[in-house]
Amino acid sequence: MTPNECTPTIDLPKSLDQLTTQEIERKACIGRIATYTLCSLTSTYVNQGFQWLLPVVLSQSTDPLWPDPSASIEKRLEVDIYGKPVRTMASMIVHKLIAASTAYPKLFILSPNVRLEKSERGKTGKHIYEFTQLDFEAKDATSKDVFSLVETVLCTLVKDLKKNMKDDLTTICRFDAIPTIEGPFKIFDREDLEAKYGATWETDIIAEITQPVWITNIPREFYDFEDFSTGRWDNYDLFMPQFGEILSGSKREYEYDKITEKIERDGVRKENFALIIKMAKEGRLKPTAGAGIGIERLIGYLTGVKHIAECQPFPRVPGIVHEL
Ligand code: AMP
Ligand code: MG
Repeated sequence: MTPNECTPTIDLPKSLDQLTTQEIERKACIGRIATYTLCSLTSTYVNQGFQWLLPVVLSQSTDPLWPDPSASIEKRLEVDIYGKPVRTMASMIVHKLIAASTAYPKLFILSPNVRLEKSERGKTGKHIYEFTQLDFEAKDATSKDVFSLVETVLCTLVKDLKKNMKDDLTTICRFDAIPTIEGPFKIFDREDLEAKYGATWETDIIAEITQPVWITNIPREFYDFEDFSTGRWDNYDLFMPQFGEILSGSKREYEYDKITEKIERDGVRKENFALIIKMAKEGRLKPTAGAGIGIERLIGYLTGVKHIAECQPFPRVPGIVHEL
């Protein structure tokens, strides 16, 4: 099949009922690649000794998404149930920290997240207002442990996908476009990239790389580990070539004094994090590290879509609400 025979990607994802016959075939093809991806990811985590937890969606405590230079939330959803206020899940970070500190030392969750991104983010092609993270966390793990685990997960996925899904990848012109990847991935410090490229470092680095890269040392939410003596953050993002971020994670804070100091400093509402504060005070919050892989972003990278909502059966483009 020559490249111009490939079924074309569409600018703005449509709902299933609006697709042409050719677009339905393309949707089905992306769906098979998504199924293969989910099977591969979950098998690798299970094979590496991780327990598979099911997600929760309503909770008093969820990710503050603050301060995070890349966050853009139009509205937070809060509702009263049984006389208590709960929020829709922005990420299961708090749940992961407590679960990994207690009964589930190595865990992963396919976790639906609701983040009502500002409407203008509908055009980035990289933001949707409901998405799924493969969220994972491991007790006593270091950033290096997370790097090598993720490298195994992704290298296995890409290798097996190219071997077993050649026809579908060829149909959407991705077989030759996706490079075989090999760990260990290069590691860059965000400060060095800012010094080299300035404010546009994210787009510049994506254009330059041909393999995935780790970016470390990014100031953000209180639960990411910050070395107060050096000012360095022990956290990381994973960037894919020509695409950008598909994962964020870190070694975590677990000490009471640091957590309370950072919550105070960041102006985060303490009452929403009462349980981790209490567990930290009692020494029951343990050192962990982990990350969340954006599933639609990963599948979006693999399938080369213009907008990652094209990988969703029911697209969630910021600013656009369909009946389904
Ligand atoms: P975060 O910790 O906020 O970076 O979220 C973890 C991962 O989820 C990111 O690296 C992205 O892959 C994915 N993600 C975050 N926000 C969105 C969004 N609005 N739409 C799609 N994926 C997202
Ligand atoms: Mg991120």
